[in-house]
Amino acid sequence: MGLFSRNKPKIKVQSTKKDGYSGWVKCTHCNDMVHASELQQNLHCCPKCSYHYRLSASQRVQLLADEGSFKELFTEFKPLDPLQFVDTEAYVKRLESAKKNSGRDEAAMVGTAKILGKDVALGVLDFSFMAGSMGSVVGERLTSIIEYATFKKLPLILISASGGARMQESSLSLMQMAKTSAALAKHHEKGLLYISVLTNPTTGGVTASFATLGDVIIAEPDALIAFAGPRVVEQAMREKLPPGAQRSEFLLERGMIDCIVNRHELKQKLFQLLDFLTGNERAYQENTAFRVMYGQSLGKLPQKLKELLTLTE
Ligand SMILES: [Zn+2]
Repeated sequence: MGLFSRNKPKIKVQSTKKDGYSGWVKCTHCNDMVHASELQQNLHCCPKCSYHYRLSASQRVQLLADEGSFKELFTEFKPLDPLQFVDTEAYVKRLESAKKNSGRDEAAMVGTAKILGKDVALGVLDFSFMAGSMGSVVGERLTSIIEYATFKKLPLILISASGGARMQESSLSLMQMAKTSAALAKHHEKGLLYISVLTNPTTGGVTASFATLGDVIIAEPDALIAFAGPRVVEQAMREKLPPGAQRSEFLLERGMIDCIVNRHELKQKLFQLLDFLTGNERAYQENTAFRVMYGQSLGKLPQKLKELLTLTE
């Protein structure tokens, strides 16, 4: 089993034979025919148009962590149904099928890892588990890894793919926004680095809490990043959104994120940022590297950081 060979890509399969999987898939973005094996080798990015398809949490860890370096933590927190919530289906039933479909026990996977030799605390959301939504256990696992990173003085990397808060846990889910944010504030007070990586899609309560609190906020290309989705916004405003609104490129132009990084370069870019922002004691003391995140002028940024973020003035 090679890298990313576990799942077939989650895009529409168009068979050339009537009853069989030929291995050719149609890219939902450019409509070109692509072979599944080629897509897998290309880290689930379309080789024709470079559209970034979704990765599972374990694929993401495989992509970023040095081989064998990831140690999963806080798996003792398992989902419960404290409200005994039932909508069209009971929450316990939804949890059951989410477990079956995703092969995971919750939407968050957290632990420690090395990225090209650098120690990090790493948290990843898996969209295939109830749309990566943040319930109590997702919040607790994330908070635990943030607190662990603070205690061990580790830089933190969180990778989001989420529909937002988990409706079935009502206000218990909303509390996770405050909890993760408060833990991040303590991590920040210690002068530790937090890099947030936003992937398609990152929305709702996740966008409105830990995902947009990064010292550096990276997004994958063409990712939907929003609080309310485009349909909801259009209904509320009774106006059409401009093309490309709520996508990474649109948000970069408006200063909401720091850079867009192609999946093929993500590991290297994370390493460079870790190396520069944690390896330089003087920059740390002077806190120069962090000023950009709090609205000071780009002119004061060290040249190297500007290059890393490929910012233009
Ligand atoms: Zn394509």
